[in-house]
Amino acid sequence: MDQVRDSAGTGRVAVDAAPPERQNGSRGALDGLEVELLAGRFDGTEPQSVIRWALERFGRRVVICTSFQADGVVIVDMAWRLDPRVRVATIDTGRLPAETYELMDQVRERYGIPVEVFTPDARAVEQMVRQHGVNLFYRDLTKRRICCEVRKAAPLRRMLDGLDAWIVGLRRDQADTRSRIRKVEVDWVHGGILKVSPLADWTEEEVWGYIRAHDVPYNKLYDQGYRSIGCAPCTRTVAAGEDPRAGRWWWEKDAPKECGLHCAIEAGGARRARAGLSRFP
Ligand code: SF4
Repeated sequence: MDQVRDSAGTGRVAVDAAPPERQNGSRGALDGLEVELLAGRFDGTEPQSVIRWALERFGRRVVICTSFQADGVVIVDMAWRLDPRVRVATIDTGRLPAETYELMDQVRERYGIPVEVFTPDARAVEQMVRQHGVNLFYRDLTKRRICCEVRKAAPLRRMLDGLDAWIVGLRRDQADTRSRIRKVEVDWVHGGILKVSPLADWTEEEVWGYIRAHDVPYNKLYDQGYRSIGCAPCTRTVAAGEDPRAGRWWWEKDAPKECGLHCAIEAGGARRARAGLSRFP
């Protein structure tokens, strides 16, 4: 998306500000008040109602963006039952565990849907590795952010370009940084499109209850003690009683367990990462 708000300041978001060619067939125009009202209306409603609304409202201009964690596969299953043509997209950072790739293929076969895979820019990865090493993320937080920017955030921006909305598996109980998410929100970071979180008020137990009840395929790393799964070198199991996301970037102290895709890494994180990249040879 090229703009966030129109020049008249009417508060219209996303597609109203898009070039004419993007407006064809779009059903995405929402104003801030409508989003607020929807967020209130959807709180406490079943996730399927929210997904149905998003699919009907946005059609092919909404994708489910998933890293194939438990919440993501639940949303894929729910959406596929509502509309088997649902679009599913993911980011292959190049550092995912083998189990995640296996699940990706399982999902393709089970639901008969193509998974739209977005990968990092090969040249940016080359430059990053040449300058900072393959496992730069272990060295300090700035390097970790550079890696997340190159391997995750940049491909995500490409994925979302031209869309009206994306559906994600965020839940409020996953982390303090996610405790206030609404089921529909304007995603200002990505040009004012709509971000839909149908499971915002679900618990981890509800997610697993759905997986068992509907025999949804899930990442086998969960059976080994993982509770949140990202890139292989940055994810490990957690002990009983530990925070579910404690296994992500476990070596970092006092840093948010976020990669910048959903919740801002504290002030300047992404900007600093991009600034670091601009200094590449
Ligand atoms: S999670 Fe780790 S490997 Fe994956 S993009 Fe971020 S820093 Fe890089």
